[in-house]
Amino acid sequence: MLRPRLVPGVPGVPDPDKGRVVARAHTLKMAADRTAAIWRAAPVAVHFGDEHTPEPNGHGKARQLGCNYCGNCNFGCPQNAKNTVDLSYIAEAESYGAELRTLHQVTAIEPASRGGYRVHYKRFDLHGRLQLSGFLEADRVVLAAGTFGTTELLLKCRQQGRLPNLSPALGTRFSTNGNITGGLRHKGPEPVEYTFGPVIGGLIDYGNFVIEDLTAPSWLGDYVTSGTLRRVLLLLRTLAGGKPKEKKSDGVLVLGGIGSDSARGRLKLGRFNRLALEWPDGIHSEPVVAELHQKMRELSSVLGLKYMPNVLSLFNSPVTIHPLGGCPMADEAHAGVVDSFGRVYGYPGLYIADGSIVPTATGRNPTFTIAALCERIAEHMVQEAMSQG
Ligand SMILES: Cc1cc2nc3c(=O)[nH]c(=O)nc-3n(C[C@H](O)[C@H](O)[C@H](O)COP(=O)(O)OP(=O)(O)OC[C@H]3O[C@@H](n4cnc5c(N)ncnc54)[C@H](O)[C@@H]3O)c2cc1C
Ligand code: SF4
Repeated sequence: MLRPRLVPGVPGVPDPDKGRVVARAHTLKMAADRTAAIWRAAPVAVHFGDEHTPEPNGHGKARQLGCNYCGNCNFGCPQNAKNTVDLSYIAEAESYGAELRTLHQVTAIEPASRGGYRVHYKRFDLHGRLQLSGFLEADRVVLAAGTFGTTELLLKCRQQGRLPNLSPALGTRFSTNGNITGGLRHKGPEPVEYTFGPVIGGLIDYGNFVIEDLTAPSWLGDYVTSGTLRRVLLLLRTLAGGKPKEKKSDGVLVLGGIGSDSARGRLKLGRFNRLALEWPDGIHSEPVVAELHQKMRELSSVLGLKYMPNVLSLFNSPVTIHPLGGCPMADEAHAGVVDSFGRVYGYPGLYIADGSIVPTATGRNPTFTIAALCERIAEHMVQEAMSQG
């Protein structure tokens, strides 16, 4: 469904039509070669077809343009070239008659008096103004609001007594997937173009963790190359509605580190009833975080570049883009919120199908794992429904 492909223009993957070169990937490979580590190209869920004429992608009415190497991937895709859920699974579901209701936020779930579940929601307009509140009832409900969305919703439902029998494991097994970022900055006068090309070109696989080159769009360049004080000012300016300055990231190669942390995080409702994270001894205590920084420093050194740890964060903390867990799957209700088919323990007909059920770090980019789990859950739901007639 997600159609992974290697990126034309990274080492070993020619781009015969356009001759594009993804410099990030070549630099990372050079560092791998100099440290006798193995680099390989990364498959990405991106469409590399015609950049100017949208083509049907075979999923319902969805159409996509080809990737134009703009480097904006981590903040959306102006070309619709990323093979995202809306252009694949959802488009496919729509073609079979699924009805979509966008701009709706689910606020609570509870058992309905006639059986099944009542799902409360709020509908907003495009400016975020509340339009109406309502509810729907269904025999089967699948939660897919992501690690934070699903966990927060269920924590609130339990606190409000709507779903009082949820597992004591709710909130546990939260993992950052060992994520850190690091920047490798050129000292010489010639800026290198690292904003070109889609999200990841390739990776070095160290077993317990991997290091990948990441795209950072040109409008993030000012942030990436600034110190903490200026970053705070830039953030305040953006919050006040200011537009970031376009700047090629001035020769900063942004690396992403992904590894196996201990998944000892616990999500709970904190001050003002908002989602809060507890991590015994702090995330900095995770050995994989130190190992990743050490490796990135080594890669920087063999290239003669300056290492900038946590290059995307404000106060030098690791940033995660792969939150996992919170509603872990397990064999028994005391250890997990769902079983291996996404069925919520204690609540027949209620399912979870998203990253919140992953009970541990995947140590690699998690999307394909999450998609595979969701497909397994969907397939089993269909079988169950058919066997019940
Ligand atoms: C910048 C960035 C880059 C990434 N790059 C990669 C990558 O290259 N490769 C990779 O494998 N992974 C990548 N990831 C991680 C990947 O996107 C996630 O792991 C994956 O999307 C998680 O899927 P999910 O279904 O669990 O949740 P999500 O994709 O987060 O989907 C949850 C959805 O539920 C909605 N929602 C939340 N609460 C509610 C509510 N109360 N009511 C209604 N809707 C709600 C949200 O708006 C969202 O649309 C990246 C993540 C980020 C942030
Ligand atoms: S580089 Fe990323 S954001 Fe830009 S078109 Fe390609 S997939 Fe989309």
